[in-house]
Amino acid sequence: MNMLIDGQIVDKKEKIPVINPANGETVGEVPFGKKEDVKKAIDAANRAKKDLNNISSRKISQALEDIAQELSKHWKEFARLITLESGKPITTSQDEVKRTIDTIKLSAEESKRIYGETIPLDAGIGGKGFIGFTLKIPLGVVGAITPFNYPLNLAMHKLAPALAAKNAVILKPSLQAPLAILKLSHIMGPYFPDGAVNVVTGKGSVIGEEMVTSDLIDKISFTGSVETGRLISQQAAMKKITLELGGNDPLIVLEDADLDKAVEGTVRGSYIGAGQVCIAVKRLIVDEKVADEFSQLLVKETQKVKMGDPLNSNTNVGPLIDEQAASEVEKVVFEALSDGAELLYGGKREGNFYTPTVLDKVTASMRLVKQETFGPISPIIRVNGFEEAIKVANNTLYGLQSSIFTENIHYALRAAQEIDAGAVMINKQSTFRTDNMPFGGFKMSGMGKEGVKYAIEDMIRTKLVVINTN
Ligand code: NAD
Repeated sequence: MNMLIDGQIVDKKEKIPVINPANGETVGEVPFGKKEDVKKAIDAANRAKKDLNNISSRKISQALEDIAQELSKHWKEFARLITLESGKPITTSQDEVKRTIDTIKLSAEESKRIYGETIPLDAGIGGKGFIGFTLKIPLGVVGAITPFNYPLNLAMHKLAPALAAKNAVILKPSLQAPLAILKLSHIMGPYFPDGAVNVVTGKGSVIGEEMVTSDLIDKISFTGSVETGRLISQQAAMKKITLELGGNDPLIVLEDADLDKAVEGTVRGSYIGAGQVCIAVKRLIVDEKVADEFSQLLVKETQKVKMGDPLNSNTNVGPLIDEQAASEVEKVVFEALSDGAELLYGGKREGNFYTPTVLDKVTASMRLVKQETFGPISPIIRVNGFEEAIKVANNTLYGLQSSIFTENIHYALRAAQEIDAGAVMINKQSTFRTDNMPFGGFKMSGMGKEGVKYAIEDMIRTKLVVINTN
């Protein structure tokens, strides 16, 4: 699958293989793009931004609608490709493609609603007789950098809003899962002027760094790890940035919770994408009074989770992205067990696969829950009452999403106010996301918001026009 630069499909002699994490087979290859390729894309995007500006919002909206239609026709093909490159269960990949279609359609709608406002200038000293209004204009060129775990929809959360706001865009996808988004970019490209959509494959430290440090890119929109996000924020200097980074989302279970609902949320939230999801449930904070019952129910439901071939539609958990990722999970679980955690279920690795695992008596100081663990793990931290639950929930450097299960409205509303995270879900696990909601974390989980309308707000500038009627 080749790159898209300046409206051309670009190949290179040197290739990078894309490996299926489920069986180690090569599922495709992408060009090993270099600095000169991304520079070409940056120049092309700067030329295209003028042409884009001359297209009506109505046409931009129609183009996005048509792309959504095209993707709908081939949605199964795209889902299969995501599963082959990322190892995600096919049903999860199908959901991702459906959501991607939604993201594009929402962008098509939002592209017609980019309004400025009139300003009552006569409210200020010397403003009598002046009329002011604002225009919302594109930033120019947006650089997008994306991770492996939702390779299509997370890229589309940058491409579609950027185009909806008439920005040219350059995407650097993850090398671990670049195929589906490259394929879709080949469909998107012809709907816009040459150079409006570019996708360059290559090393993050080369392609990504060139984008982040270039004076010809107006904004970097990054989704990925805290480590890379931190580096980008240091290098981006005067550029606008949006950072969607890692999470360590808590799921609190109070003594009055509906335990069946809480367990259902835990199983969905901990094991989705084998736990390799930024908003996966990563810490279970459970009141001591119901912890025994909760853990027994959780083990029972975890036993039903099917791990195996991700192309099989009955599979719930596939492999981790590579063996290094699976070994890292094995290591932090082993450490927790050595430090006194109890293994209730799972805890085994076979190559890239790690079994869904339930651990009890985990303490907040264990690395397993202190850092973001990207694996299918349910670590139970026992607490006494609401106050301690909130304290433990907030005792992390992350703050992406969060959840609480309780039938008590006062505790629910206090949690909504007191949990320091970008979103608080009441009686629903943190993996809840619709593509139009404001999405983005606090603290080390990032800065800025996505969710089509919110992404667009960060991809436009405000220009003031003043008319003297005196
Ligand atoms: P990663 O940070 O390793 O890579 C993300 C992207 O950054 C890749 O395209 C990579 O090539 C690129 N990159 C690497 N070095 C770079 C550099 N020096 N300059 C510019 N770009 C560079 O992340 P990953 O392992 O692909 O994804 C997992 C991480 O992403 C997890 O921490 C997860 O929580 C996070 N994530 C966050 C969200 C969110 O919306 N908050 C969503 C999904 C994933």
